[in-house]
Amino acid sequence: MGPRKKPEGDRRRAPVPGEDLQNSTTEVMKLQPYWLDSAPAFAAGAEEPLPAKCDVAIVGGGFTGLSAALAFARQGIDVVVLEAGSVAAAASGRNGGHCNNGLAHDFTATAARLGLEKASALYRAYDSAVDTVESVAREESIDCDFRRSGKIQLASKPRHFERLQKTHEILSHGIDTQTRLIPRAEIGREVKSTSFHGGLLYERSASLHGRRAHRRSRSRCMRAHRCGLQPR
Ligand SMILES: Cc1cc2nc3c(=O)[nH]c(=O)nc-3n(C[C@H](O)[C@H](O)[C@H](O)COP(=O)(O)OP(=O)(O)OC[C@H]3O[C@@H](n4cnc5c(N)ncnc54)[C@H](O)[C@@H]3O)c2cc1C
Repeated sequence: MGPRKKPEGDRRRAPVPGEDLQNSTTEVMKLQPYWLDSAPAFAAGAEEPLPAKCDVAIVGGGFTGLSAALAFARQGIDVVVLEAGSVAAAASGRNGGHCNNGLAHDFTATAARLGLEKASALYRAYDSAVDTVESVAREESIDCDFRRSGKIQLASKPRHFERLQKTHEILSHGIDTQTRLIPRAEIGREVKSTSFHGGLLYERSASLHGRRAHRRSRSRCMRAHRCGLQPR
């Protein structure tokens, strides 16, 4: 006996993983990242064939590649950026836009582990990174909505607030004088919720528009080439 034929009309294909979710979520939420949806795509890529020679070739046109290219170009070095997909459309075009100072880990615990000197050096490196983003945006006239909007660490339990108080006290001694302790009674003004037991505000932290951050720097300093690994 040969193989049984599927009855006509029973041509169901195997489900693609995540497909159901995709179909149901598109009805209620937008899947296109906000940054990519609210700024024009990069369209100034070089059309001509790749040059036979350049001083530096950079693979990848995200934050890392573009800022490296800018640094080279500022020194008059001939730099080519090779991007397989779309410039600033991978992680750099779909992140939170937070440009934070401070550590993600609790500073008091970090200082206990590494010593105050090392922990402070680490903390200052983040300060300096945020300052660098701000100065590049200013010097290159990049209209990316860079704003010192602040970052807040929230205490969901009373003992978390005690830890934030301790961190605030250590930071205030010359490490970061721009942190502010927010007591429980005032937290509602910051986060529109009264559920938290207070918070620590880092006023030097910033936010920016991820995709617009690339627009001017890339056109000024370099030739961006699509390298055809993943043609659109
Ligand atoms: C959901 C999310 C939220 C985030 N939120 C934040 C945040 O709020 N704040 C923050 O500071 N960081 C955040 N990050 C991290 C931040 O976005 C990344 O650290 C940063 O964008 C990395 O930049 P990149 O240039 O190294 O990589 P990417 O932006 O991913 O760029 C790499 C590029 O290289 C290209 N490429 C790869 N291989 C090749 C190849 N062989 N040839 C040619 N091109 C190639 C890719 O197409 C891509 O365009 C977030 C990340 C994600 C995913």
